[in-house]
Amino acid sequence: MAESEREIVFIKGDGIGPEIVDNSKRVVDAAIEKIRQGSIKWVEALAGAEAEKKSGNRLPDETIAAIKRCGVAIKGPIETPVGKGFTSINVRLRLLFDLYANIRPVKYVPGIASPIAHPEAIDLVVFRENTDDLYRGIEWRYDSAEAGKVRNFLNSNLGTDIEDDSGIGIKVMGRAKTERVTRMALEYAIKHRRRSITVMHKGNIMKYTEGAFREWAYNIAKTEFRNSIVTEEEVAAGASRNGKILFNDRIADNMFQQIITRPGDYDLILAPNLNGDYVSDAAGALIGNIGVLGGANIGDRYAIFEAVHGTVPKYAGQNVANPMGMLSACCLMLEHIGMESVSLMIRDAISATLKDRIATRDIARFMGTAPVGTKEFSDAVIDRLGR
Ligand code: NAP
Repeated sequence: MAESEREIVFIKGDGIGPEIVDNSKRVVDAAIEKIRQGSIKWVEALAGAEAEKKSGNRLPDETIAAIKRCGVAIKGPIETPVGKGFTSINVRLRLLFDLYANIRPVKYVPGIASPIAHPEAIDLVVFRENTDDLYRGIEWRYDSAEAGKVRNFLNSNLGTDIEDDSGIGIKVMGRAKTERVTRMALEYAIKHRRRSITVMHKGNIMKYTEGAFREWAYNIAKTEFRNSIVTEEEVAAGASRNGKILFNDRIADNMFQQIITRPGDYDLILAPNLNGDYVSDAAGALIGNIGVLGGANIGDRYAIFEAVHGTVPKYAGQNVANPMGMLSACCLMLEHIGMESVSLMIRDAISATLKDRIATRDIARFMGTAPVGTKEFSDAVIDRLGR
């Protein structure tokens, strides 16, 4: 391997995954070629339906070993059945590699139609805890022996009154997990010069999980980052912001209406796992389309980058999917491995492509232009690299 060559795992995934991953890799390779700085050696690994077909296992040991060896991967979306079947491979990867922060930047890209009047005000980062909460998958079907045991235990010992036909899911939120993601969010906010951090929670109803998340987050901000933050309460009492990060919180339902009515007031949203999932799709809709968002799953040792959207099975294999979400994930990956200039070149080329009114169907239909395919959009981005 050449000295500056970096091995990166790629997983094509299901549905539109192979098309958007292949085309995004082409764009990254072309940008690296153009800029002549560093290089990437792509290492393919399987996960999802293709892996099951070839090895009988949706998450083969070889894939886990490849990510362990390389440390960094990009991944296409992977399907998860609703209400039955296997557990999410995406969630398993996050837990297995302890990728405890999911970071989703949401910034308006000029040229894309948005449902709100001033989408240019949107420049948000959703920082989602990625390993805790209901996503731990501790749940039992209503008619299982396990659900019966849990209901009996709770009803007999803890004074609850759970009906016999109830499924059981356990919401777990830990102090250490909340503290480490809060630390990472604060460090990120300082490094990226963000203006504020808003903790999104439903602590009025779920006091000892989401309410505790809020309390633990404030505690880390006030004890470990005292010189970098000022709370909303302190500002209301007369404290000066003085260039510090404003630390505040919003109840989850209010958070949704706030980002729709006053998106410019929010900068970095720190949320538990489920809230973070919901709010990042809602924020994506504000800039016109979740198909354009990329996300980073980051832990202390490993990182996996993916588009925010899913497998969109109805568009699979048709060369119509938008590769921008996957491209954005690749840009985040490039920034993570220190190839910022390559990332910037790709982002600029995407903007130039949209400015020339070249877009896939999801965006073109609102632009009033004829759509191009996934491959043709990627070719257009490659043509505009470094222009
Ligand atoms: P989805 O696949 O994201 O699709 C939702 C809608 O978003 C599509 O119907 C389409 O809208 C639009 N869309 C999303 N990405 C697009 C793109 N790149 N190009 C064009 N249009 C795009 O969500 P879903 O239907 O809820 O989930 C499908 C499967 O994906 C499920 O099995 C789910 O578990 C999985 N999933 C995986 C991940 C992951 O791997 N991280 C994340 C989310 C979901 P229109 O219908 O308006 O054209």
